[in-house]
Amino acid sequence: MKGRKILMIPGPVEFTPEVLQAMGLPTTSHLAPNFMDVFGQALERLREVFIAPSGQPFIIAGSGTLAMEMAAANLVEPGDRVLVVNTGLFGDRFVAILERHGAEVTQVTAPVGDVPSLEQVDAALQKGPFKLMTVTHVDTSTGVITDIRNLAHLGRKYDTLVVVDGVCSVAGEELRQDEWGIDLTLTASQKALGVPPGLAIVVAGPRAMEVFRRRKTPVRSFYADWTNWLPIMEAYEARQPAYFGTPPVNLIWALNVSLEQILAEGLDNRFARHRRISAAFKAGVTAIGLQLVPVSLEKAAHTLTTIYYPEGIDARLLPLISEAGAIVASGRHPVIKERYFRVGHMGAVTGADVLVTVGAIEWALARSGYRFDVGAGVAAAERVLAE
Ligand SMILES: *Cc1c(COP(=O)(O)O)cnc(C)c1O
Repeated sequence: MKGRKILMIPGPVEFTPEVLQAMGLPTTSHLAPNFMDVFGQALERLREVFIAPSGQPFIIAGSGTLAMEMAAANLVEPGDRVLVVNTGLFGDRFVAILERHGAEVTQVTAPVGDVPSLEQVDAALQKGPFKLMTVTHVDTSTGVITDIRNLAHLGRKYDTLVVVDGVCSVAGEELRQDEWGIDLTLTASQKALGVPPGLAIVVAGPRAMEVFRRRKTPVRSFYADWTNWLPIMEAYEARQPAYFGTPPVNLIWALNVSLEQILAEGLDNRFARHRRISAAFKAGVTAIGLQLVPVSLEKAAHTLTTIYYPEGIDARLLPLISEAGAIVASGRHPVIKERYFRVGHMGAVTGADVLVTVGAIEWALARSGYRFDVGAGVAAAERVLAE
């Protein structure tokens, strides 16, 4: 038997064979001409994938949390007021990071599974001024998606910098940084970008870079300071040697391969594929009577699905789903942690992966004594995929 299970968690996800091959190439010098070319090309391609022609990309060794800290460290000075549009665990994390860097944080929140309304955010912004606002595009703990386009519009109206945590959305959910007026988008390699964990990625727009340049106090993190990294990014883009900290050579090689694949698929096609996969998966699990955490489909992300266990079932379901061939994730949000599970479907994910996963969930539920029409979930998912 193959003994292979598919990895359906909200990051790390499964990667394409070409991306994995790049991870295994002989590691070159970080100053080798062919690596300078790869790094430079990856920076250029990030502008395309973020749809941010005016943006300054940064690629740094670290996880998504470092990308969040990089935004806070470089844009915030002690005493600055920041508005956090909080939709779950990663909103809480942004509050902690911003406060660590001296920000005075105000939050707009919503019940678990919901997102704050535009009116709520507008009312909060009116009580400003705020130097910046942060919004999580897809909160991976609750599975909800925010209306970034209209939220960024509000940020513009109040002359507040708009920072988007796109860790679970960039290259999966539609996001148009420049056109929508976003000042900084951040992500990590291991989610919809489709590269093994280890890269923190930030694209900062001109207004964010201007705020950074006008700082009165030094950035209070040596490693995260753009003063150190900006010359490095500029040098690689000019195919010139430069050093501040050794870049993760193989990861950047793999990133460049993934970005090439993303652009070859076409961003609009890729967004549409994530919507279709998500619709099929959600149709599958709701057809067998399961309930989603997001309060409505309009507020549900397309890169992952969060699902309540039915009555009488708990996290003991997860090892059974794994036994049936799909690895899914446990709950993360403290308020409902024990009551739900999460399934990631982003990056190179296919319709076949959806069918296997819905089938594995059905098998595990049947084993656990849940009464339902076995096969109805797979059939519903298949119908959406066939549309
Ligand atoms: C995963 C995630 C993070 C944290 O990324 P790490 O790479 O785990 O540090 C931050 N924000 C969101 C929305 C995420 O999904």
